[in-house]
Amino acid sequence: MKEHINNLVKLQKIETESNGIKLVLSNVTQRLDSLSSRFGEFEQTTKDKEVKLDELKKSYRLYKSDIEMNISRLKKSQERLGTIKTNKEYHSLLKEIEDIKAINSQIEDKQFECLEQMEDIERVLSDRNNEYKELSEQVNKEKQTIAHETEKNDKRLAELDTEWKRFSGKIEPELLNIYLAVRDKAGGIAVAPVINSVCYVCNMNIPPQMYNDLQRCKSLKFCPSCQRIIYWKNTN
Ligand SMILES: [Zn+2]
Repeated sequence: MKEHINNLVKLQKIETESNGIKLVLSNVTQRLDSLSSRFGEFEQTTKDKEVKLDELKKSYRLYKSDIEMNISRLKKSQERLGTIKTNKEYHSLLKEIEDIKAINSQIEDKQFECLEQMEDIERVLSDRNNEYKELSEQVNKEKQTIAHETEKNDKRLAELDTEWKRFSGKIEPELLNIYLAVRDKAGGIAVAPVINSVCYVCNMNIPPQMYNDLQRCKSLKFCPSCQRIIYWKNTN
C-alpha cells in the first residue's frame, strides 16, 4: 500500500506543478497586452502634445504675419504724415498710428506667450523622447523574459506530461480511477498528507482510530471531512 500511496503522491506533485505552469501560461497574453497598452498610452499622450504644438506654431505664424502687416501699415501712415495739410487730419492720423502700435504690442504679447508655450512643449517632447527609448527598452526586455519563460514552461509542461503518463501507467487502473474521481470532485487535489492527526489540506482532525490505521498504511483511507485520499506524513 505504501508504494501505491507514494505513486499517488508523486502523481499529485506532477499535477500541482503542471497546474501552476498552466496558470502562468494562461496569464501570458494578459501580460503582453498590458505591456502593449503601456506603450499605447504613452504614444497617445505624445501625439496629443504634438497636435497642440502644431496648433501653437500655426498661431505663432498668424501673429507674425499680423505684426508684419501692421508694421507696413504703420510705415505707410508715418509716410503720409509728411503730406497732411490740415491739423485735424494730422491728429486723426497720429491717433491711427497710436492705435496700430497698441494693437501690435498686444499681438506681440500673445506671440511671446505662444512662443513660451511652444518651448515648454518642445522640452516635454524631448524628455518624452528619452522616456520612450527607456520604455521601449524596458518593454522589449520584459517581452523577451516572457518569451524565454514561456519556452521554458512549455518544455517543462511537456516533460511533466510524459512523467504523468509514465507514473499513471505504474498505478493499478482501479486505484487510478479512484484518484481521478477524487481529484475531479475535490478541486484538483486528490491526495492530502496528515500531519499530527490533522488533514493538511482541509485542516480537520482525523479520528484517533483512523490515525492509527493510517500510520500502519494497510488500506486506502479518505479524510472524513474533505474526502481526499490521505496518508500519514511522519515529521519526526
Ligand atoms: Zn481533509
